[in-house]
Amino acid sequence: MLFHPTAQNRAQAEQFSFDVDAPGLIKVTNESHENPAAHQYTVSIDDVTEDLMACTCPHHVHRNAYCKHMAAVENATDDGTLEAFPSEDNNVEPEDCDCDSLGDFPCWPCVRTGWKKLPN
Ligand SMILES: [Zn+2]
Ligand SMILES: [Zn+2]
Repeated sequence: MLFHPTAQNRAQAEQFSFDVDAPGLIKVTNESHENPAAHQYTVSIDDVTEDLMACTCPHHVHRNAYCKHMAAVENATDDGTLEAFPSEDNNVEPEDCDCDSLGDFPCWPCVRTGWKKLPN
C-alpha cells in the first residue's frame, strides 16, 4: 500500500450499483468485490418519511448499524442518481410501442417497461 486512506475514503472508493426492486426497496450490489453477487443486499426506505429503515447485510442485521449500503443509498438519492420511489407519472407508453399491430397482445417495449402486462 502506497497510502493509507481514511475509513471514509475507503467507503467512497467502493463501487455500488443500485436496482430498484420496488418503490423503497433498493437492491445494492458492491461491485468492488470479486464476486458482486455475494455482496448484494436490500436497503428499505420508509415510503412516508423516506427515512432509511433497514439493510439485509449482517452488519445491520446483527448490530443494527448504519451500514455502508444505507450510506450509499442515501448518497445516491441525495445527489439524484437514484430514484428510490419512481413516480407513476414517469411510467409512460414507450415510444417504440407496436401494440396496434399485435391486436390484444402487448408489444415487447410495453412489457419490458411494465406499461402493460402479458395476458395470463
Ligand atoms: Zn448493509
Ligand atoms: Zn406497446
